[in-house]
Amino acid sequence: MVKQTIQIFARVKPPVRKHQQGIYSIDEDEKLIPSLEIILPRDLADGFVNNKRESYKFKFQRIFDQDAKQETIFENIAKPVAGSVLEGYNGTIFAYGQTGSGKTFTITGGAERYSDRGIIPRTLSYIFEQLQKDSSKMYTTHISYLEIYNECGYDLLDPRHEASSLEDLPKVTILEDPDQNIHLKNLTLHQATTEEEALNLLFLGDTNRMIAETPMNQASTRSHCIFTIHLSSKEPGSATVRHAKLHLVDLAGSERVAKTGVGGHLLTEAKYINLSLHYLEQVIIALSEKHRSHIPYRNSMMTSVLRDSLGGNCMTTMIATLSLEKRNLDESISTCRFAQRVALIKNEAVLNEEIDPRLMIKRLQKEIQELKDELAMVTGEQRTEALTEAELLQLEKLITSFLEDQDPESRLEVGADMRKVHHCFHHLKKLLNDKKIFGNNTVSNTVSSESKDQDCQEALKEEEYRKLRDILKQRDNEINILVNMLKKEKKKAQEALHLAGMDRREFRHSQSPPFPPGNPEEGQRMRLSSAPSQTQDFSILGNRSSLLHKKTGMREEMSLGRQEAFEIFKRDHADSVTIDDNKQILKQRFSEAKALGESINEARSKIGKYHTFSFYLSFSPSHCVPSTGISENMAVPLMPDQQEEKLRSQLEGEKRRYKTMFTRLKALKVEIEHLQLLMDKAKVKLQKEFEVWWAEEATNLQVNPPAVNSLDHTKPFLQTSDSLHEQSQLFSNKSSGGWEVQGQGTGRFDVCDVNARKILPSPCPSPHSQKQSSTSTPLEDSIPKRPMSSIPLTGDSQTDSDILAFIKARQSILQKQCKFTSLGGSSRATGHQHLWGAHSEVGGE
Ligand code: ADP
Ligand code: MG
Repeated sequence: MVKQTIQIFARVKPPVRKHQQGIYSIDEDEKLIPSLEIILPRDLADGFVNNKRESYKFKFQRIFDQDAKQETIFENIAKPVAGSVLEGYNGTIFAYGQTGSGKTFTITGGAERYSDRGIIPRTLSYIFEQLQKDSSKMYTTHISYLEIYNECGYDLLDPRHEASSLEDLPKVTILEDPDQNIHLKNLTLHQATTEEEALNLLFLGDTNRMIAETPMNQASTRSHCIFTIHLSSKEPGSATVRHAKLHLVDLAGSERVAKTGVGGHLLTEAKYINLSLHYLEQVIIALSEKHRSHIPYRNSMMTSVLRDSLGGNCMTTMIATLSLEKRNLDESISTCRFAQRVALIKNEAVLNEEIDPRLMIKRLQKEIQELKDELAMVTGEQRTEALTEAELLQLEKLITSFLEDQDPESRLEVGADMRKVHHCFHHLKKLLNDKKIFGNNTVSNTVSSESKDQDCQEALKEEEYRKLRDILKQRDNEINILVNMLKKEKKKAQEALHLAGMDRREFRHSQSPPFPPGNPEEGQRMRLSSAPSQTQDFSILGNRSSLLHKKTGMREEMSLGRQEAFEIFKRDHADSVTIDDNKQILKQRFSEAKALGESINEARSKIGKYHTFSFYLSFSPSHCVPSTGISENMAVPLMPDQQEEKLRSQLEGEKRRYKTMFTRLKALKVEIEHLQLLMDKAKVKLQKEFEVWWAEEATNLQVNPPAVNSLDHTKPFLQTSDSLHEQSQLFSNKSSGGWEVQGQGTGRFDVCDVNARKILPSPCPSPHSQKQSSTSTPLEDSIPKRPMSSIPLTGDSQTDSDILAFIKARQSILQKQCKFTSLGGSSRATGHQHLWGAHSEVGGE
C-alpha cells in the first residue's frame, strides 16, 4: 500500500497580452518548497475582498512558469503517475482552473503543433513503449472517454453514433453495487493494442466532443471530460490479474458565474457547472477535515466517477492552471486556494490484484470432475457391457492426442469407467510393443533378414513417409517465402500507386474540392501502420474516417454554389493557415519518411550482402589452411583476417545505421499520424463553422428577402416573349423572394430562374436582346425588377435554395468588401473581389 497526499502542481499560462510585471513571483523557501506569490495591485486589492491583503502566497509541489514545455510537464507530472499505473496502482491527473487557463492544452494538447501534444498522447506513447519493453507479463489496454455535462454522462467513443449534438451520444449512467463500487452503464471500453489505436480513439472522442458542442452548450468550458486508460496485466501461467486505471481529467472551467446578466437557460447550466464543481469542493473539504465519516461523493456524477481518485485507492495529482493576468487574479487566487485544500487529502493506493475468474472456474470444474470420478470408483459403480466400436475409437483418439501432447502435465481423462481404464492400458501396451518391434526392425533392417520382410517393408514405408513429409515441409516453406515475396511486391506496387496518387492530389489541390472524399492521407497512414495491428487499426481508422468523412466530405451532397462558398469560406478562415502549415510539415515528413524508408531498405540489403559475402569468404579456398595435417579439399575457416575484420566493422556500422534510422522512422510515423489527426480535426471544425455560417445566411435570407439592387432598374433585361411569359407565370406562383441580384460591378445582369436551366445554358444577354430590352414592354411592369444571375438553377427546391442562399451570401460579402475597399481596405479584400469575379464566371458555365 502506498499512502500519499494528492500532489499539487501549478502551471502558469503565457499571457495573451504583453507580460504584466509584478503580478506574481515564484520563490522557494528554506526547505526548497516552491511557492507562488500573487501580488494584487492596489486598485484591485481595494475592492477585492474584505481584508486588505495585497499579496497571497501558495505552496506547490512544483510550479511551472510560462515557458514550461509540454515535454517538461509530462516528464515531471504525468510520467511518475503512468509509472505507478504500470505497476498496478490507480492514477488520476486532473486539471483545474478557469476557462482559458490551459486545462485542455495541458491535458490533451494544442491543436496546431506536434510539439504541443499534451499529457494524454504523451502518456499513451510512454505506456505502450513500456509495454513493448516488458515481456515478462501479458498486458491488455482499454480506453474509455466520458464527458459529463449538466449531470449527464455521454460516451464520446461510441462509433455507431454520428453525434451532431451531445444528446446524440449514448447516455452513461451510474450503477452502484452492494459493495458501493461504481459501475458506468453504457460507457464503452475499446481495446487498443498499439499507441496508434489509442490515439485514434482519443481523436475520435475529441472530434465527437467538438462536433457535439454548440454555442448554446459551450460544452468545452462547462463539461468535464475523463479519458481513462484501463490496464490489465498477468504473468503467463498465473491466475492473478492486476488491474489499474489512469484517469486523465479535463475539468469544467472553475470560474464563478457572474451574478448579473445570466438568465433563463443559461442560468440552469451555470448552476449545474457550479453545482458540479461545488460538490467537488464539498468532497474535498470533507476529506481534508479529520474525523469526517461521511463524504458526499454521491451528490454529483463527477465525484461519483472520481470517487477512488479523491481520498481513495489512487495516486492522484492535480494541476492548477493559472492565467495570471490582472483581470484573472481573483479566479487565480481561488484556484490556488482550492489546490491548498486538495493538498491535504490523503490517498491510499493498493495493488489491485484479483484471481482471474475464468481461470478459477476452469480449475474448479476440473476438480469437480476428478472428485466425481473418484466417488464413482469408490462407490463401485460397475459397468459390465462391452465398449462399443465408437467408444473404442474415441478412446484411441484420446490416447493418440495424449501421446502427441508436448505438455508433460497433460493428462488422459477417461472418466471413472474401469472398462475404459483397462482398454487404455491395453492399447498403450500394444503401442509400446509395436514400438519395440519397430525399434528392433530399424536395427535389423540393415541385416535384411528374409524372415523379417514384413517389418522391413513397414520400416521402408516409414522411411518414405518421413522423406515425403520433409519434402512437404520444404515445399511449404518455399510457398510461404513466395507468398511473402508476392505480398511485398504487391505492397510495393500499391505504394508506388499511392505515392503517384498523392503527388497527383497535391498537384490538383488548387482546383480540387477542399476535402476529397476518402481522406487523402488515410491510405498513407494505413501503409505506415505496423503489420500486427493492422486489422484493428483499419477498423478504428475506418470508424474515424467514416465519421470524419461524413463530417467533412459532405461535398458530394453539396450543390455547386455551396461548394464554391465553402472554398471561399475556407480560404478566408484563420484555421486554413494552420491547415496549410500542417500540410506543408506533413509533406516534409512524408518525404523524410520516404527517404528514410529507402535508406532503410538500402541498409537492409547491404547488411544482407555483407552476411552473404562473409559467409562465402569464410568458406573460400583462399581462406583455407593448406595441408596442416588436414585435407586440402576441406575448407576450414581462418581466424578473422583483416578483410573479415573490415567487413565485420562495416556490418556493425550498417546495423547501427539501420537501427537509428528505424527508430527515427518509428518516431516519424507517430508524428505523421498525430499531424494527420490534427488536420482532420481542424477540417471538421472548419466544416462545422461553415455549416453554422451557411445556416445563418439561409435564415437571414428567409427573414429578409433580398432587396433589388438599385442598378437593376437602369439595366435592361431581355427575353423572348415566350420565356418572359413563362417567367411571369412563375413569378406569380412564386412571388415571395428567392430572387437575387448579382451586380458584380460589371453593369451586366443575367436572369436566373427555375427555367433558366432550359433556356439559359450560357450567360445572357445577347447583343440582340439587349437592344430589344431597351424598349420597355408591358410585361416589364408585371415582372419584378429582378436580379439576374448567370448561375443556372436546377429545379430542385433544396438545391435552388442553396444556390440562392449562396448568391445572397456572396453579395453580402461583396458589399462588405466594397465597403472595406472604399475605406482603403487591404489587398486581401480586393483580392477576394477578384476571386468572386472569377468564380462567377465558372458558375455561369
Ligand atoms: P481551458 O481548457 O482551460 O479553457 P485552453 O487549454 O483551451 O484553456 O487554453 C486556452 C488557449 O490558450 C488555447 O488557445 C491554448 O492553446 C492556449 N494555451 C493554454 N496554455 C498554453 C501554454 N502553456 N502555452 C501556449 N498556449 C497555451
Ligand atoms: Mg478546455
